[in-house]
Amino acid sequence: MNLILLGPPGAGKGTQAKRLIDKYGIPQISTGDILRAALKERTELGIKAKEYMDKGALVPDEVVIGIIRDRLTQSDCQKGYMLDGFPRTVVQAEALDDVLNKMGSKIDHVISIEVASDELMKRLTGRRTCRKCGSGYHVVFDPPKKAGGCDKCDGELYQRDDDNETTVGSRLQVYENQTKPLIDYYTKKNLIRPIQGTGSIDDIFGRITAVLG
Ligand code: ADP
Ligand code: ADP
Ligand code: ZN
Repeated sequence: MNLILLGPPGAGKGTQAKRLIDKYGIPQISTGDILRAALKERTELGIKAKEYMDKGALVPDEVVIGIIRDRLTQSDCQKGYMLDGFPRTVVQAEALDDVLNKMGSKIDHVISIEVASDELMKRLTGRRTCRKCGSGYHVVFDPPKKAGGCDKCDGELYQRDDDNETTVGSRLQVYENQTKPLIDYYTKKNLIRPIQGTGSIDDIFGRITAVLG
């Protein structure tokens, strides 16, 4: 099964992806995670990407398209994959179609998670992430058992540099202008599966699995 998780920043894509990995055994491919990992290793890619990420802007299309092209050819994608945070522009979506065509692969469903923007601001400014295993939390909506520590691996929780109010504002604007048109793009291809993204994390997971079967 080949999926795209589409939705504004803070919609719960990463949260749901972690659960979908367990249920369907397919890898999550998050361009955001890949870029942050590159930065942690101080690679040229990571250092360059941070300039854009800190402003809440998108990293250039050709950079993320290159990342995805490489990642999709790795052997763990044979049984399926979940794209989280890619594509984010129509140019990226067209490039993805091209890559998949050449591989003889195709997307089965685009899970489109819908959440209103005032809720997104609350979710993103309260988001915390585990440095060690990448698990996501929220200080109010999904707190860890022990403040500042990960339930799963006891790693340290941190707040992403781009999860401050100013940068979140820019990211939500970028979503409206550049990413939202993808809903239309995939509706025309009959691939959009709209999911109401408010309610408990379990409820939303139930809505997604009801669509995927
Ligand atoms: P969120 O989970 O909040 O939506 P991500 O981790 O997906 O955020 O992305 C963080 C940042 O990484 C984005 O604001 C952007 O700068 C960059 N980025 C991630 N994916 C893409 C992409 N497909 N195209 C361009 N930039 C991207
Ligand atoms: P995305 O990957 O789409 O940017 P995340 O999965 O990282 O979004 O979720 C953003 C924040 O919202 C996290 O702090 C997460 O714990 C929290 N969150 C996720 N799902 C819900 C939900 N259904 N209700 C409230 N908060 C949620
Ligand atoms: Zn952890």
